[in-house]
Amino acid sequence: MTNERISILDKLKPLIDSQGRNITYLRVSITDRCNLRCVYCMPEKGVKPLSHNEIISYEDILRFVNILANHGVNKVRITGGEPLVRKGVAGFVESLSKIAGISDISMTTNGILLDKFALELYDAGLKRINISLDSLREDRFQQITRFGGLQSVFNGIKLAKKIGYDPIKINTVLIKGINEDEIIDFVNFAREFEINLRFIEYMPIGGNISETITSKEIEEKIRSAFDGFELISGNGYQAVSKEYGFKDGKAAIGFISPLSEHFCGSCNRLRLTASGRLRLCLFYDNEYDIKQILKQKDDEAVFNWVSNLIQLKKDKHNFSEKVKKSGSLLWANDFMNGIGG
Ligand code: SAM
Ligand code: SF4
Repeated sequence: MTNERISILDKLKPLIDSQGRNITYLRVSITDRCNLRCVYCMPEKGVKPLSHNEIISYEDILRFVNILANHGVNKVRITGGEPLVRKGVAGFVESLSKIAGISDISMTTNGILLDKFALELYDAGLKRINISLDSLREDRFQQITRFGGLQSVFNGIKLAKKIGYDPIKINTVLIKGINEDEIIDFVNFAREFEINLRFIEYMPIGGNISETITSKEIEEKIRSAFDGFELISGNGYQAVSKEYGFKDGKAAIGFISPLSEHFCGSCNRLRLTASGRLRLCLFYDNEYDIKQILKQKDDEAVFNWVSNLIQLKKDKHNFSEKVKKSGSLLWANDFMNGIGG
């Protein structure tokens, strides 16, 4: 076989791990910095921010995505920290959208700066957005985020709706004793604006596992308050979320249950941290320095390196072991803001 033919065949090679899972999705944390300090994500005083040299450059991310896109990765989620605080984010989205093979670009944001950037980002190629929102009450929003600014988030959501983002998903983390009494208010909010709502199980980083309210508990509360609330994702999952809808079609409600019902068997994702480290699983601390690899190797060698590395991706996460040891989740290397959720 000629060298040229070998490299065309290599190009078509998908990223398949030892469990037969096809990796098609990359989550990229573009910054560890944030304009909020949510109680479940960051310590009150914040964390020492990465220096300019430590943070992965847009050029490196784009090259890495390009390499993976040649091997079947088609979906990229931009996250953080708060992605909208990094300079040049719209230009980055535009460059991502030009990479052949990347058909789905999305972003998770706290929405504080969304009304400022929504239009520019949409024009740059971002068409889907997830907005994290844990309370609809200003005082409680302030308590959870330690900063406040709920009205800016509402403005951002309304503007995103007007511009035509589709879907718009609200990500809500419920914590026992803090905001669990807002379940029905959130459902009504989603139905009023006809947007999607997803409840993400609270992962007790440095907190107490008994503060987690499970997807099942939330689902039962909604079912007892609304008629015609039913599963719309067959009996299984749509990606990582179990999706429910209402007979009148207003809003979809999703449940992401990393703790009570792990979805590791169908995990198709890798995570790139703000410091440029590749993480095979949210719950395993092992990270691999992509910035160094990109410096040392050509594209084909980078692909081969990643292809070998993903064979280490575990069949399922070790959350219960971590909790058994400490009663909560503790990450060795990063807080959630550096990993991106
Ligand atoms: N700053 C952006 C935001 O808040 O949407 C993006 C980064 S944030 C780390 C990504 C997602 O992780 C958010 O939806 C947030 O609610 C979620 N998250 C952070 N810490 C969490 C925890 N301990 N348990 C569950 N979800 C968490
Ligand atoms: Fe910032 Fe998002 Fe973490 Fe809240 S969840 S502190 S908004 S990175």
